[in-house]
This record gives sequence, structure tokens and C-alpha cells, in this order.
Amino acid sequence: MNKQETKKRIEELRLLLEKHRVLYHVHDTPTISDELYDSLMSELSTLEKNYPEFDSETSPTKRVGGDILPYFEKIKHHTKQWSFDNVFSLQELIDWEDRNITILKKTNIMDVPTYVAEMKIDGLKVILTYKDGVLARAATRGDGEVGEDITENIKTVKVIPLSLPDKVSITVIGEAWMKKKDLEKINTERARQGLALYANTRNLSAGTLRQLDPKVVARRNIQIFAYDIDGGDYKTQEDELKALESFGFLVNKDRRHCKTLEEIQKFYDAWVNKREKEDYGIDGLVIKINEKNIWDTLGYTAKSPRGGIAYKFPAEEVATVLRTITLQVGRTGAITPVAELTPVLIAGSVVSRATLHNSDEIKRLDVRIGDTVKLRKAGDVIPEIFGVFKELRPQNAKAFIMPTVCPECNSVLSKEISGKVTSVALYCKNKNCPAKHLEGLVHFVSKKGMNIEELGERTVEIFHDIGLINDFSSIFEIKKTDINGLEGFGEKSAENIITSIQKARNVPLHRFLFSLGIRHLGEQTAKDIAKHFNSFESLIKATREELVHVEGVGEKVADSIIEYFNDVTNTKILSQLLPQLKITNEVKTEGDGKLFNKTFVITGTLPSLSRDGAKDLIEKNGGRVSNSVSGKTSYLLMGENPGSKFEDATKHNVTIISEKKFLEMVN
Ligand SMILES: [Zn+2]
Repeated sequence: MNKQETKKRIEELRLLLEKHRVLYHVHDTPTISDELYDSLMSELSTLEKNYPEFDSETSPTKRVGGDILPYFEKIKHHTKQWSFDNVFSLQELIDWEDRNITILKKTNIMDVPTYVAEMKIDGLKVILTYKDGVLARAATRGDGEVGEDITENIKTVKVIPLSLPDKVSITVIGEAWMKKKDLEKINTERARQGLALYANTRNLSAGTLRQLDPKVVARRNIQIFAYDIDGGDYKTQEDELKALESFGFLVNKDRRHCKTLEEIQKFYDAWVNKREKEDYGIDGLVIKINEKNIWDTLGYTAKSPRGGIAYKFPAEEVATVLRTITLQVGRTGAITPVAELTPVLIAGSVVSRATLHNSDEIKRLDVRIGDTVKLRKAGDVIPEIFGVFKELRPQNAKAFIMPTVCPECNSVLSKEISGKVTSVALYCKNKNCPAKHLEGLVHFVSKKGMNIEELGERTVEIFHDIGLINDFSSIFEIKKTDINGLEGFGEKSAENIITSIQKARNVPLHRFLFSLGIRHLGEQTAKDIAKHFNSFESLIKATREELVHVEGVGEKVADSIIEYFNDVTNTKILSQLLPQLKITNEVKTEGDGKLFNKTFVITGTLPSLSRDGAKDLIEKNGGRVSNSVSGKTSYLLMGENPGSKFEDATKHNVTIISEKKFLEMVN
């Protein structure tokens, strides 16, 4: 971006953030996730830092909080309500500590800070003022200086003491939140009444405490964790939290006193994994220096206290710029457009590419080159683009046009027609297309195929380029001396590659079958076939009729298998390859497993097992996993938030079991 473009980008980001801020804070109806909002905010903040000439006091980056609604009485806070700065990595946390230590070195404080790590609850901050031990008023944070008077509403909240044991005058800060299951319940009810739904538990908490009728608040099960006292005389944050407990406030027990940043990191890592199981939303940890004298000495920046920081959990949604769209030719010849992105940290890893699937998907998203896109990644899912910020679209953004010829071999592309169905994707039909050939080799050695660990995609590409690998069998003819001495390969890596190739000579039938890249033959189908046939030889001899009768094999797959084994080129490849291998059939021996012949469908989030974990267990016990419910399904293994499969299962009278019941079956 040149200077003029940067200025324009800053202005557009400000407008967009302002729009979403109003939706979020004023109306409690956000249309984008907090994570996306944070991501745009962080881009703006970086640009303003790099281009101070475009910085502005009225920028959204200078704001502390939300707006106030006209119908609530305004309250000026006794002390300004700050918000913490965010960090997203251990390195940023280390930098924060370093900055503090530099400041402390200039003072006469000799103490080393320790830290209290508390949950950062996704809720609404409330400020409770007690006069002579009696709750005098309660307010929202508002913009940090002026909030809304919600005293009558707070008085209905059962976890808040209306009076304190001692007649003290203090201000207690807390976070109001609501349970995830209350969100579900209330949204179901609102859907029935045709009312707008709450996007998340934070909006529900805010929407609840900003009800004009306290009776509505009383009916909703609002919770408040107290975490701070303004105006008390405590030596440490820990003492303060203990005092709050003794006053009768609800204080979150999930906190830890840490002496080092490493300890904090351990606590953080543990919570990244278990936060989903908690009844409230947590979007990170709040790290506070425990010793109040150090806290006070460090003071404040323009926006935040220096002694505390919010250590956010890895974002699963971010905004980034789509720089260009490239094309990938798959081993089946399918042409896939791929978005090349400005590298961005998402769910803990850096992502620079995401598939756009096909031209229909590009049209549906209306995504153009130069656009700022919404990128999402949840759990193990591969990153996907799910939307575009059209407000940020540059004037020179270019619509993408699918090519008519293969980018690798220039053959004319065409759609696949099978029966009455025409494919969405375009295909290169050239049998000798080099891209298809290379992808086929990469697929052959991949984890779910021959599993030659040391032969990664890049290595296969290099070996292919120099003619070391031409086809499947040539892989097993590679010698150590062929590799040793190649640029980028030392003796050790040559040895590792050879060892890993040798290991792969012993291969289970289902993985070998999958590795061949027979069209429509997926991982599960390969397992189904292996369960039916004793050996690869008996499979080659199978007739179409025999294949169609194998559970899990449809006509399409059967045709494809027959076609594959009838092809002269394939016969030649196999005749060279088979003598190199020892094919075993481990699936077949699972026939006496506890779940033999049982078909499972999994839906919803299971309490302890991951999807893949459950799948592994089922398969290890001889069962199979299918993606959709049918009359053939034996069990629906159901967790929290099941999808439509639950209804399908009811329709087909399929037995529904919980994880607990399932674990009893296999143990
Ligand atoms: Zn091609």
C-alpha cells in the first residue's frame, strides 16, 4: 500500500469499526464475531502506529468502552473504568513484563512481581458501589467515565449481597455473565415469539441487565463474578479476592497465583483446551501483578493500567487480505481456485492459503482479488473464507475469471457429467497432465496412503523434477546415494528417507487401496472393501456384481474400480509395484471386534472424545462410521448440540446412545 492507499484504508477501517461498535455496544446485536472485530481493530492500531501522521484522537482505537442508551440514567464513575490491553502470544507477554521491569528499575522498588491469572469472562462489566455497607448503586461501564444506572436490575441478582458484613464503603467491580444453556433456552423461546436472537452469552448478559423491567431480569439466571475492589486497602490481588469471598460475593475459583510467565503459559495452555466445557464463555486470561505496591508504581498508559493485561485465546476468526487467486490441479484433474492470503495467525498457526473450492463458491461469496476476507478455523477444520468486508473493497479489486485451459498442460477444461448430474468443478482430462501425475504421487505417499513420512509434498516435487521419482515403483528403487549430496539433503535426511520407504513396504490393504487414487474411492470405502476381500489379488478378480454387494460400495465406486484395473497403464504400474510390497489385511482380522458389522453416525460435541477419537475407537473394534443416517445405521452417537442427524435418526428408528453408553460398549 502506498501512503494514499494507507490513509484511505485507515478511514475505511474506522467507519467499519464504528458501525460494528454501535451494533455491539449500543444495540447488543453484533453481526460479526468479537474476534473479527478485534482483528480489524488490531490492523487499524498497527497502521496508526506506523503512520502517526494519520492517527486521530477520535479513532475507535482510543475508545475504552461502549455507548450509553438514552433511557437509562447516566452515572459518572468515581474512578475511570479502564480496560486492559490485549496480547496474543507468550512473546508479547514477555515484552509486557520487560517493559514493566524497565520502569521498575528506575524506582526504589526491589520486589519481583508475581502474577494472578484469572479467567477473562465474556460478559458485561458492572460497577457496584457500597455506602456504609449497603449497595447504593450499580452501573454499567459505559464509555469508562459515564455508565448507565442499573441499580434496580442488579438488586434482583441473587449472587450480589445487598449489604456487607462490615459497614465499609467500597466499589466492587465484577463481570456479569449468563450460562450457555440459558442462552439456548432463551433463544428457543425468542425464536418461537419471532424475536431477534442473542448472538452470544455476552450479548445476553448485556441485553438482560439493560432491560427496563427489573422483573424480566429477576427471571433470568444472571451470574456475577466479582474480581476487584476500588478503594480497599489490600496488599495483594489475592487478598482482595479473598476479601470479596468473605463479603459474600461469587468469586471465580478457576484462578492461579503464578510466579513466572512459564507458569502462566502452562495455565493458559490447559484452558485453551478445556474452556469449551465451561458453562460460561471465556476468551482469555487476565494477568494481574499480585503486589499492589508494584501495580500502583507502574501507573497507567493513555488507555490501560500497566500492571495488568488480557492474554487472549487464539482467535478462530480473523480478517485478512486476499492477494491473488491461484489454481491447483488435483490428481483427479479437478481445478481448484486457491486464495493466496496475507499471512495471518489463526487458531495458533499462520495461514497464507485457503481453498475457494470452485467458481460457484467464488460467485456466492462475491470475493474479489484485493478484498478483505473473513477467515475461520475451528478445531481441526481447515481454514475457510466465509465472507467479505465489502466496505473495505479497494477500487481496483478484480473479479476472478476461471480459465478455460489447464494451467499446467494447456488442455481445454471441461465439466464432469455423470448421468444427469454435471459437476461444478472444471477438470483437466489430459491423462498425461504433469500436475495430475505429481498430485497422484503426493497422494500415494501421504499419511492415509502408503504413509511414507519422510517424503513430504515438497520432497516428492523435488525428486519428481530431477527424475528420481517417475511412478509408484520408482520410489522403492531410490538409493541413499541418489539423495545424499542433493542440495538441501544431508546424509542424515537421506538415511531417514530410505528408512521410511523401507518401512512402507509393509502396508495394510485398505491403505494401499486408498493410496492408488482410484476415483471415488475414499478412506472409508477402502476399509469397507478390505473388510470384504482377503487379498489384493482377490479384489482384482472381483466382478462388478460382487463389488456392488459390498457394504459401503456404490455403483459409482464399483465402476471406477473395474475401470482402474482394466486400464493397461495401471496394470503395468501394478505389475512393477506389487513385487516391492507386502500387503497385509489388518481390517479383516478385526472381524471379531465388539462392534463388528455395526454402523455408527456421530453428531454433536462429545463430552470427552474428539470426533477422530470416537471414529478410531469404533474402527478398532470392527465397526464403521458413516456420515449420514440411513436405515442401515446401527447407532447414533450423540453429544451436545446435535445437528439434523438427530431428527434423521428418530425418523429411521435408529438407537441413540451417549458417549458414556458407547464407552461401556467398547470397554
Ligand atoms: Zn492439465
